[in-house]
Amino acid sequence: MTGKIAIVGAGPSGCFLAQALLKAAPDLEVDLIDALPVPYGLVRYGVAADHQGTKAVTRQFARVFERQGARFFGNLCIGRDISLDDLRAAYDVVVLAAGMSVDNRLGVPGGDLEGVYGAGRITRALYEHPDAEALPDLGSHPLIVGNGNVAIDLLRLLAKQPEELAGSDLGPGPSDWLARSGIETITVTGRSPAARAKFDPVMIKELAKLGGVSIRVIGAGEAPDDEAAKRLDALAVIDGHGDGPRKIDFRFELTPAEVLGAAGKVTGMRFSTAAGDAQHIACSSVLTAIGFGPADDLPREALIAAAADREAGALAPGLYATGWFRRGPRGTIPDNRADAQALAGRILAEISASPAKPGRGLFDGRPGIVDYDGWCRIDAAETAAPSQGRCRIKIPTRTGMTMAAIEGATSR
Ligand SMILES: Cc1cc2nc3c(=O)[nH]c(=O)nc-3n(C[C@H](O)[C@H](O)[C@H](O)COP(=O)(O)OP(=O)(O)OC[C@H]3O[C@@H](n4cnc5c(N)ncnc54)[C@H](O)[C@@H]3O)c2cc1C
Repeated sequence: MTGKIAIVGAGPSGCFLAQALLKAAPDLEVDLIDALPVPYGLVRYGVAADHQGTKAVTRQFARVFERQGARFFGNLCIGRDISLDDLRAAYDVVVLAAGMSVDNRLGVPGGDLEGVYGAGRITRALYEHPDAEALPDLGSHPLIVGNGNVAIDLLRLLAKQPEELAGSDLGPGPSDWLARSGIETITVTGRSPAARAKFDPVMIKELAKLGGVSIRVIGAGEAPDDEAAKRLDALAVIDGHGDGPRKIDFRFELTPAEVLGAAGKVTGMRFSTAAGDAQHIACSSVLTAIGFGPADDLPREALIAAAADREAGALAPGLYATGWFRRGPRGTIPDNRADAQALAGRILAEISASPAKPGRGLFDGRPGIVDYDGWCRIDAAETAAPSQGRCRIKIPTRTGMTMAAIEGATSR
């Protein structure tokens, strides 16, 4: 079977889809296009710097380029550098695998005060995404709103002492920022009862390895079923852990009502409790880990609303969606594989190849595109740098990355 397929987004869902397509039909031309000069999406810029085992999935993704013949076109934003219509005109099939990256807003009075930051903003800055804003001063007592895995990742990173980050890929700037943060207390709040919290119990138990902290779990309540019992058991493991100076408090059933401030800056938060009472917690900053929405380069909402078969990811003839872009910001890396496999079957059943379409010829002569060999040179430059106790020192700017893509390690 022949045909030209463009996948917009070289994150996990794009890579899993390319793998599935090329496994079933090795003669397809499959191109992964990414707005960044580097592939792998949130594996590089979302998965925690101290979870290198999770990031090892990139070795599997590399095979789609190295052995299965997929091509990478990095540093090319669809919707900005090239329109979606032009891409669709050039390829037989276009698949949107562009993820979700914009922090959901708290939506309560005071939510725009200085000192309220989305988890995506902080993690992008910590992991040196080239478009990230600077890391802000969180003060001595950040309060995290949300109790999913992103919230727990953020808590763990903020709570760690410098020596606990050995072997990670946290860069020198963010490492220095953490070491000098002056954080004394971190409060984590969730709207649901602990029994229904979204975190993975394994992530909670990992907190029991932290040194320099003392952890309290306040109001965990009862477990109504076995699934809930696993969460409460994990919380019981960490409750009372450590006698270090950095305090960590977990609180539940607190619905955000207002961010309190003075002179435009955060001073605390008011919540309503399950009983309908008000509860105030003083804090110096508020970090929201309450999900993500789409960026505005692609008209996701309109495309999904008009989808021919939204569940299957079929948006319009020759146009499909997969991964977080289709489902919303839910699910782990492996969850995107099942999505990709199902969609690959549908695409292969529906594709109609037009030999006259230029496919990747659309990009001929465009300056600044980084291909897979360019990414390999960036990768080599990052991993060849003096380690400073790190497994990789990321190049933090687009210019630095594109230079390394051309020149390799010599550009550092
Ligand atoms: C902070 C955080 C931590 C996480 N930690 C874990 C974890 O430890 N383990 C786990 O299993 N899961 C984790 N996840 C979930 C996991 O990252 C997702 O399931 C997965 O990344 C979704 O894959 P995706 O390809 O749909 O989206 P993404 O990974 O976001 O990839 C989308 C890609 O599309 C590109 N793109 C976007 N717009 C355009 C455009 N207009 N043109 C071209 N390219 C574009 C982006 O640059 C990006 O590379 C985490 C998520 C977050 C937010």
